[in-house]
Amino acid sequence: AFDVLIVGGGPAGAAAAIYAARKGIRTGIAAERFGGQVLDTLAIENFISVTETDGPKLAMALEQHVKAYDVDVMNGQRVVELVPGELTEVKLANGASLRGRTVILTTGARWREMNVPGEAEYRNKGVAYCPHCDGPLFKGKRVAVIGGGNSGVEAAIDLAGVVAHVTLIEFDTKLRADAVLQDKLRSLPNVDVILNALSTEVHGDGSKVNGLSYRDRATDELKRLDLEGIFVQIGLLPNTDWLKGTVALSPRGEIEIDARGQTSVPGVFAAGDCTTVPYKQIIIATGAGATAALGAFDHLIRSSAT
Ligand code: FAD
Repeated sequence: AFDVLIVGGGPAGAAAAIYAARKGIRTGIAAERFGGQVLDTLAIENFISVTETDGPKLAMALEQHVKAYDVDVMNGQRVVELVPGELTEVKLANGASLRGRTVILTTGARWREMNVPGEAEYRNKGVAYCPHCDGPLFKGKRVAVIGGGNSGVEAAIDLAGVVAHVTLIEFDTKLRADAVLQDKLRSLPNVDVILNALSTEVHGDGSKVNGLSYRDRATDELKRLDLEGIFVQIGLLPNTDWLKGTVALSPRGEIEIDARGQTSVPGVFAAGDCTTVPYKQIIIATGAGATAALGAFDHLIRSSAT
């Protein structure tokens, strides 16, 4: 069995592996796709001390750093079940199973997509999901934010300070964000809000976004906005479906953790975008991965079996 068995190979999993291996304990990492969301990212300009990098480069650096230690890296492995016990069992889709005295869950999250024509084609070419990450790339440009919940309205307020103009598009007849955010949004001179609208297509010139079509649900009229960027803010889905019924999840499906990364199951820790941690970012996930590994190590030195 492993002393520390990590599920997920994004920034959180990589950091947890390095911190665990540096304690000289048996460390394994099973990941469906080593690198995680970082692999889908172009420019990264907010990983502190690295002025600029891109996703594939950072993913490679994470892997090289992990492989500099004695870590059993099992890439291409999807985990389907967690069975808590004296040794926690982790079952793989291929039928095999792994065991750990402690387990760290770092399965990340995925952005909910609009699922309209052009969205996938122009991803990272104008279609974006993270205002903290990509907002500055649209300085002085026109953007739309899709979604009028708290994250959409926060994104619109944030972007209004950076870009030339923001159009917020909400499917419902009213915004769902907190009143204080709605008031702030309405006070901004460069923001328009369109309610009762369904986004139908992302347009582009072949290399980048130049427009967005939506259907006015009241009149059924199809309209088009000319713009350079679209921020989709209709939800971040944690990859935790397989954990339902074993570890405590928040109403949004995020794994509930304490300050040391401990979940509701003793010996099972979690870190990164799959957890209740506020703000989902690479630097935050790496920090959380380190915390969870140190939490797991603390748990090991306090448990009787050596
Ligand atoms: P993830 O990176 O999501 O990694 C999850 C890991 O778990 C993967 O290895 C995955 O394959 C694995 N996994 C999932 N389910 C299973 C399973 N059942 N079995 C086995 N393995 C599983 N953040 C920034 O700080 N700066 C940026 O510029 C930035 N830009 C972004 C751009 C895009 C397009 C996207 C999508 C995200 C961006 N982010 C950015 C956010 C950042 O990528 C995430 O916050 C970060 O990757 C979270 O790390 P994580 O390790 O928690 O999860």
